[in-house]
Amino acid sequence: MAAASDFPLEGGCTCRHIRYRMESEPLFVHCCHCRWCQRETGASFALNAMIEADRVTLLAGEPELVDTPSASGMGQRIARCPKCRVAVWSNYAGAGPVVRFVRVGTLDEPDRLPPDVHIFTASKQPWVLIPPGTPSVPEYYEREKLWPAESLARRQAILPQIEAHQATLRKRRD
Ligand SMILES: [Zn+2]
Ligand SMILES: [Zn+2]
Repeated sequence: MAAASDFPLEGGCTCRHIRYRMESEPLFVHCCHCRWCQRETGASFALNAMIEADRVTLLAGEPELVDTPSASGMGQRIARCPKCRVAVWSNYAGAGPVVRFVRVGTLDEPDRLPPDVHIFTASKQPWVLIPPGTPSVPEYYEREKLWPAESLARRQAILPQIEAHQATLRKRRD
């Protein structure tokens, strides 16, 4: 995991219309090998740093939110630069706007955030070798088993907001 002293970190899109600052270390970093992430990145996996939305400060520009289908069927909302269309983060239905999945490759120093876990390795491309020492799971994992205590406590703190978001989703479905 990255050290607290590494932060804040800045990042943005390719045309530099969107610039943002990640104020603290993320909750957890997912390297996702699912086919959906492969298609959306055009690459072999996606590297996402999960962090509370209020710990990402927008320094320039306003991303456009694009509703995109997701494996869960609930959809995700991808924040893209309105000019160059590069995706800087996304929100998933579960935690909604409360948690951002910042695309690590958009940081100025992406090397600072290596994966904390490799997920959906059942569909990873066969030439991708998972480094020993980093947890990996065929699909998903139990948060309580892998997240550091500090991240679990931070999630506990935003749980009321997450639950409020989920309640509005349920209301919309009923
Ligand atoms: Zn741009
Ligand atoms: Zn994925």
